[in-house]
Amino acid sequence: MLQLPTPIEQIRFSGVTLYLKRDDLIHADFSGNKARKFYHYLENAFPSVTKLISYGSSQSNAMYSMSVLAKMKEWEFEYSVDHLSEYLRENPHGNYAGAIKNGMQIHVGQGALAPTNKNTLLMEEGGRQKEAEYGIKLLAQEIQEWQNNNNTKALNIFLPSGTGTTALFLQKSLHSEGVVGVQHPTVYTCPCVGDSAYLKKQFLELEEDVAYHPSIVTLEKKYHFGKLYKENYKIWLELRKQTGIEFDLLYDPLGWRVMLATPEIFDKPVMYIHQGGLLGNESMLPRYERKYPELKL
Ligand SMILES: *Cc1c(COP(=O)(O)O)cnc(C)c1O
Repeated sequence: MLQLPTPIEQIRFSGVTLYLKRDDLIHADFSGNKARKFYHYLENAFPSVTKLISYGSSQSNAMYSMSVLAKMKEWEFEYSVDHLSEYLRENPHGNYAGAIKNGMQIHVGQGALAPTNKNTLLMEEGGRQKEAEYGIKLLAQEIQEWQNNNNTKALNIFLPSGTGTTALFLQKSLHSEGVVGVQHPTVYTCPCVGDSAYLKKQFLELEEDVAYHPSIVTLEKKYHFGKLYKENYKIWLELRKQTGIEFDLLYDPLGWRVMLATPEIFDKPVMYIHQGGLLGNESMLPRYERKYPELKL
């Protein structure tokens, strides 16, 4: 049912050549790093579980993926948000509409739900939990097998972070699951949600040993998650024009900008991980189009 391993393509953008890991192609509804993070739940049996509960924002990619998982597993899905805008309630779109369609029951302003019994499975916000390692390990193995088959011994990897769970477990798996004769790639990432200190803290909560932590890189200017920035929109449009590939509008624009502004990453062949999240563009793109009508494909 899932398209694994995902393809690795060579692309050119703004004068650089790099490899792109197409995790956006895993499945039409269950893709990107959320599919990797929730793979453990998809692959294993949970005979006593009848309900999934979680919390977070009303347009989160994780929320949508959890709704797909719950549907596949025939679990109920209850999700709590601090706030739901009148506009979104009246005009469901993007991840929210998709999750509602999959049967998500939403609770507004009641705080995070607590599991009531052993039939309830609690998922942390954004899937930030140890179980995510299971599916991300598989991503690491796919990359190392590709390195081996393509004789690409040295490699730097880049992916933008939210909770940092994907970047952390990817770097950790690459370190510990070595394929003979292949160097361990270095994973570079940038914080998109908080700052470097926040991301570092997230890493530490999942893994005490800093030897397993990814390398954090940033731009000078501070960016706020979910806000609109002309430079981010511009690179997103340019990526689509030059590569023909659609990226996510929340994480990828900053990711590409940070990566391209960090020359040391290009000391070795580079692989960028496409982490999916395209349904979220349904809400982000109209906002960008309204704010910068002069910018177009
Ligand atoms: C969730 C998400 C991220 C962030 O992943 P973390 O594991 O929380 O760091 C990055 N990109 C996309 C497209 C996502 O959906």
